[in-house]
Amino acid sequence: MARIVMKFGGTSMAGTERIRRVAGIVKRQQEAGHEVAVVVSAMAGETDRLVNFCREANALYDPAEYDVVVAAGEQVTSGLLALTLQAMGCKARSWLGWQLPIKTDNAHAKARIEDIDSEALLASMAAGEIAVIPGFQGLAPEGRVTTLGRGGSDTSAVAVAAAVKAERCDIYTDVDGVYTTDPRIVAKARKLPLVTYEEMLELASVGSKVLQTRSVSLAMKEGVRVQVLSSFIDETAPAADTLPGTMIVSDEELEGSDMERQLITGIAADKNEAKVTLTRVPDRPGAVASIFAPLAEANINVDMIIQNVAKDKGETDVTFTVPQADLARALAMLEERKEAIGYFRMISDANVAKISVVGVGMRSHAGVASTMFKTLADRGINILAISTSEIKVSVLIDADETELAVRVLHTAYGLDAAA
Ligand code: ADP
Ligand code: ASP
Ligand code: MG
Repeated sequence: MARIVMKFGGTSMAGTERIRRVAGIVKRQQEAGHEVAVVVSAMAGETDRLVNFCREANALYDPAEYDVVVAAGEQVTSGLLALTLQAMGCKARSWLGWQLPIKTDNAHAKARIEDIDSEALLASMAAGEIAVIPGFQGLAPEGRVTTLGRGGSDTSAVAVAAAVKAERCDIYTDVDGVYTTDPRIVAKARKLPLVTYEEMLELASVGSKVLQTRSVSLAMKEGVRVQVLSSFIDETAPAADTLPGTMIVSDEELEGSDMERQLITGIAADKNEAKVTLTRVPDRPGAVASIFAPLAEANINVDMIIQNVAKDKGETDVTFTVPQADLARALAMLEERKEAIGYFRMISDANVAKISVVGVGMRSHAGVASTMFKTLADRGINILAISTSEIKVSVLIDADETELAVRVLHTAYGLDAAA
């Protein structure tokens, strides 16, 4: 007997027919003798719909009320899955975020899980009841509902798995594993049987939305075994223990496997950033700080930064990227401080994409970045900004060239699946 946490994403939960399928997969897992907790997302498109309602109601919405609205999508699917399981003769009940509770900080709309009270959950699972938990939801210290940021149900699942010391956290989604790049963009993408926490973390953080970044860092920290696999399997498919998904593993496990390590593990694209340029910023100590300190205070994440070489008049242009969702706030804030910062003009562009190549092999091999630059140049793709880390190179390009860029890089690094 094992304790297993299963998570189903929005596409898998979209409608009663699909929920019935999910219930079938869950039931089979229980029949295999396991204690089961299930974490569910809202139906596909539902969270977007709720977010739009908030925007329509009040463009500068209060994040605490936003959370009240968007947490509702998961409440619906958790109740529906419990009902469906009951109809199949299983004992099941839902546990809302505030009921367990899943305690978070009070950063509404992007809350961080601090603790999960697992006592009631463990008792219910031990009694043969399937625990159904809405993902994405939490409870702030002052008693209000929080949500964990888009894609947050992955993090709920990993946190529940850590809290109940589950043997495994199976993330069921609409693709059958983690690929070298988004298989919906590149048909030749290859499925990775194993990927290390570190590489998955980097891939997620640069835009592979198959797993939320925080879910990977939490899994790494807590040593949760995470497997990504498809929920679109037929009723007679083997149990998840033997399904060919992608297992997230430690570096040692990968070394010990017979999988050959490639220089590049994967390529990701992120269209959710926007570029801001401030021209003629005074080139003196403190100038850059006066731009970025207020953004940091407002919890706006700045990613890529370029400061041009100062021209003779002691002025320089500063370019950086922020999440598109925060662009309006960032621009308003910088406009307000125009005199204090002393820049001349502010220019923004949301039609950009960040393309990143990730691989631990980069640590010991030179030339990854130059291959990237040359490949893009050969296709006439202009690079607007560059950033690197130990195992990643990212470039910012025109969003219209995203698919072409990912495809040519995938080929250039030898990642294409055999035809
Ligand atoms: P869910 O609703 O199940 O949480 P998501 O839409 O959040 O599903 O994540 C799954 C999607 O992630 C896939 O449909 C795929 O388009 C996308 N994706 C992006 N990069 C990758 C990758 N490297 N491997 C697999 N899927 C990826
Ligand atoms: N429903 C939320 C979203 O769409 C959380 C999730 O599905 O992971 O972002
Ligand atoms: Mg997701």
